[in-house]
Amino acid sequence: MIDLHMHSTASDGTDTPEEIIRKCAKLGVSLSSITDHDTIDAQERAIECAARKKIKYLTGAEFSVEHDGELHILGYGMNVTDPELKSVMERLREQRAERAKNIVKKVRKNGMEITFADVERCAKGNTIGRPHIALALVEKGYAFSVADAFVRYLSRDGSCYVKREKLGIEETIGLIKKTGGIPVLAHPKLVRADDIASLIGELKTMGIEGLEAFYPAHTDEDVKKFLAIAKQNDLLVTSGSDYHGTVRPLAAIACEKRTDGALAESVNFLMQKAAV
Ligand code: AMP
Ligand code: MN
Ligand code: MN
Ligand code: MN
Repeated sequence: MIDLHMHSTASDGTDTPEEIIRKCAKLGVSLSSITDHDTIDAQERAIECAARKKIKYLTGAEFSVEHDGELHILGYGMNVTDPELKSVMERLREQRAERAKNIVKKVRKNGMEITFADVERCAKGNTIGRPHIALALVEKGYAFSVADAFVRYLSRDGSCYVKREKLGIEETIGLIKKTGGIPVLAHPKLVRADDIASLIGELKTMGIEGLEAFYPAHTDEDVKKFLAIAKQNDLLVTSGSDYHGTVRPLAAIACEKRTDGALAESVNFLMQKAAV
């Protein structure tokens, strides 16, 4: 059992890195990775805890990159003490805060009295994202739920949407590789594309090395299709739950249990890149 896609309180999950690692140890997860959105803040704590709990841990991050909307690239096995990686992450954090401020401005223009301080409080010191603005809107009674806040105000079609500056595809792949990591396309089913097979072919030429073929939202048919595309492009295959804790109750740790030979081989390879 493995789980290579989980979010902690360093991004928009509700469990601390230690809570996630302890749960993985209890479940008997044989390889785990916390892949927070655009931040590596959880990594050192996760490594330490995994060492204490004697479980295998692979460093991780999930980068949001520019592509007709957005595309997510997972990086595994990066050296999380690398100064360039740290400074890019710092820049992304500043851009996120800037964007959140602009969303709050728009929200206030629409007559809803939330402040950036409210949003910061909801983020509890972690990487600020739209989910925290959603929480502030719920708190002040402007939305029934986080989902409601997204539909009405924060989603791409919402009334208070503000675009965020993102890294480019090649820039992201380059950064992951430079720091010793493996770039993997996350949840390909959720990628907006007319022809996902040809997009993955293009990503391969840009340096992508793996495909998250096993993902809860993928049907058995989807998994089969992505395994075939991975094989065609000589890509590693990964599996992850996209665990976020209580904000996404259906995606439990290691809930993605399907497997096959290509995944087993890829996991063997990734094991060698484990930090502990
Ligand atoms: P951000 O990174 O600030 O753009 O926020 C994106 C995050 O918001 C995603 O990682 C999701 O966890 C969450 N999210 C996106 N769309 C929705 C939605 N419709 N309902 C609830 N959460 C969402
Ligand atoms: Mn998320
Ligand atoms: Mn994602
Ligand atoms: Mn994710």
